[in-house]
Amino acid sequence: MVISMDEAARKRLFDNVFICMKCGSKIRANPQKVLSGKVRCRKCGSRKLRPKSKESRG
Ligand SMILES: [Zn+2]
Repeated sequence: MVISMDEAARKRLFDNVFICMKCGSKIRANPQKVLSGKVRCRKCGSRKLRPKSKESRG
């Protein structure tokens, strides 16, 4: 099996998008900032964010 370029491009697109684990809103931020806890959800103020790119199922 070969990983398509399409998939790689899509992954990069979503690389900077995070989902708030509390309220589910999307947040665009630098992953390094998220990892260091500098980014908060605008809606609920939670710091628990998960990367959108890890959402793949199946
Ligand atoms: Zn939130």
